[in-house]
Amino acid sequence: MKKIMSFVLICILLCTMTCYASARTFHDVSSSDPFYKAVSKLSDIGVIAGKGDGNFNPYDATTRAEFCAFLSRANGYKDNTVSGSVPFKDVPTTYWAVNTIYFCYSKGYISGMGDGTFEPARQITYEEAVKMVVSAAGVGGTSLINAGPYWYSGYIDRADEKGFLNGFTVKIGQPIPRGHVAQIIYNAMEKGYFDSNGTIPTTPPVTATPTSTPTPTSTPTVKPERPASSDGKRIVIDAGHNYQTVDTGAVGNGLKEQDITWEIADKLRVHLQRNGFEVIMTRPKKTDSLGTTVRESLQERVDIANRNNADLFLSIHCNSGGGTGTETYCYQLGGNGEKLAKLVQEMIIEETGLTNRGVKTDNLFVIKNTIMPAILVETAFIDKESDAQLLASQAGQEKLAAAIAKAVCKFKGISYR
Ligand SMILES: [Zn+2]
Repeated sequence: MKKIMSFVLICILLCTMTCYASARTFHDVSSSDPFYKAVSKLSDIGVIAGKGDGNFNPYDATTRAEFCAFLSRANGYKDNTVSGSVPFKDVPTTYWAVNTIYFCYSKGYISGMGDGTFEPARQITYEEAVKMVVSAAGVGGTSLINAGPYWYSGYIDRADEKGFLNGFTVKIGQPIPRGHVAQIIYNAMEKGYFDSNGTIPTTPPVTATPTSTPTPTSTPTVKPERPASSDGKRIVIDAGHNYQTVDTGAVGNGLKEQDITWEIADKLRVHLQRNGFEVIMTRPKKTDSLGTTVRESLQERVDIANRNNADLFLSIHCNSGGGTGTETYCYQLGGNGEKLAKLVQEMIIEETGLTNRGVKTDNLFVIKNTIMPAILVETAFIDKESDAQLLASQAGQEKLAAAIAKAVCKFKGISYR
């Protein structure tokens, strides 16, 4: 009996040792790395893999297609068991990841870029990864896009609430490194949200509660735009984002959005003042920051415009997240906001030759809550090299500023000088 017990004990011990030894270890992921557990567990169960040379490259970016592959496997997809085609023109049936992209698409985890493409080879950003994970976990539908102030805000709040962001910080507009990809997928699996044939859960699986349909915000269908007085020449220029702390902008090509928006805004100020406008800046100095939360930062910009009875509100931004060119937002069509947006859009394209992405409407906080005609200009993409070159140069900033000033003059019916 004693002998049998010893034998059993040795077996258990051996098994434990073998199992432990089979845990994947990578030269470049040490047990002191915060994502160590996530990387080793996910590679053990085949959700993610190393680079074949014993490295995991935890600080490398991931493409959108690769992320789909990880997400699919984490949700029970086995290679070559699912196939289908997707309605994205840049994902042909011969594309290497077409089946995992199909899997994610058919399950509603992804929806593409809205223009018939999926951009599979582009590096996935933190916020895009968060949106996919939240969708795959079944804890948030597309209505979260409207939660504001940004399209990703609702997804990030939801992911945070569910513990998916434990162990790392979300950096908006930046590619999410592989270590954090492992962490976010691991967090969702570990909390029982993924349909993964249950290999990971260490905490009891949580039944995915159907998300409550967000109560529709009492958005007036028509923005209470106060009538623009014909001689009203008071303009609030909002250099988008803060110099530091909260509500800092996107980054790309060595540039920070908040610096570029201020440079353009300040040049725009000079042009408008020369043309007889009274200008109020939301950030008079480049190093100014507003509020202690994103919401406060946006609210203060709105308050400055409303409190001062401004006649126009111009918010300057740079875009990011894959794309190129200019787009201008107004809150709704049919009003002076749209009229101004069209003129600004037209003039920027004419002056800079940037790609015309058109005039768009969106529920953006600052253009929704200001009570005068308001627009938000996404001048160009900070993470697109050619756009960034224009954004970074004095000449490029000058062209953008002059174009906006010319459009404002045209809107006001005065000749630009
Ligand atoms: Zn911005």
